Amino acid sequence: MKCVICNSANTTNLNKSVQGCRKAQVIQCHDCGHAFLHQVSLPAGFYEHEFNTFMADRAHDPTWNDAAAHFDARLPIGQMWVERLKTLVSFDQMDTVVELGSSSGFFLSELKKAAPKLQTIGVEPGKTFREFADKQNIPTVESLALAPTKVDAVISFFVLEHIIEAESWLKTLRTHVKPGGVVISIVPNVEEALLSVYQDPHYDQFAWQAPHVSYFSEKSLTALMARLAPKVHVHHFQRYTLSNHLNWLSGIKPKRSLEYAHISSDMNSQYKKSLEQNKIGDTLIGVMVIE
Ligand SMILES: [Zn+2]
Repeated sequence: MKCVICNSANTTNLNKSVQGCRKAQVIQCHDCGHAFLHQVSLPAGFYEHEFNTFMADRAHDPTWNDAAAHFDARLPIGQMWVERLKTLVSFDQMDTVVELGSSSGFFLSELKKAAPKLQTIGVEPGKTFREFADKQNIPTVESLALAPTKVDAVISFFVLEHIIEAESWLKTLRTHVKPGGVVISIVPNVEEALLSVYQDPHYDQFAWQAPHVSYFSEKSLTALMARLAPKVHVHHFQRYTLSNHLNWLSGIKPKRSLEYAHISSDMNSQYKKSLEQNKIGDTLIGVMVIE
């Protein structure tokens, strides 16, 4: 089977079991590192009706079934993302930002605090989360077609890996951005330490899941974006803590999460920084600058 990104025939079926779709196969390309699902299918209306329940079960996290709890629990994550993205783009100099898959609105809420003059619009297909965000004064629409065009930035967190036609989807996003604006797509990194270095069997069972049809490497995300924009940069980021990794390696994840008191925030920062520098962090931030 040929690689869906670089068209190389140098691919392998990894023989993984895929959560949520038994017949799906994980194929990985040896040339660009990209992995993708073959023969995957999800029930019709999955993202409108079933996604939150799927996530709640998978991560043993009931906040996925409660918009207010989801929002409150994730405000620190929103803040973390605002801080990280501020090092890459200047929100102060922008007029309008669209977030795709804005969920309960926690990122846009924090972004508004950091750049109060900015107009923000969320796009969220899930009705409960969309209506919750709207009520919190985080304007949210059902689909991208209802969002304004010619905005300064279209940002998506952990959406691109769900999209079967990734290239045409990015192309559509591009049409919403004015010249000099950016499309930012944040995705999991298939070369992250838990998979590539520690090869943790518990995490390995967790990582491959039917909603994620693409598993990007730095090389594959760069190659995909470079087809659509002349200027592309991909950055490495580690979201999860050292305690989280130890939780996986000791077999208590995904059912339980413990933050260990003996791991100081300094140790944690050093650990994250080292993973990022070694390009084995859990997250890639892809930036396309639109002409
Ligand atoms: Zn490839």
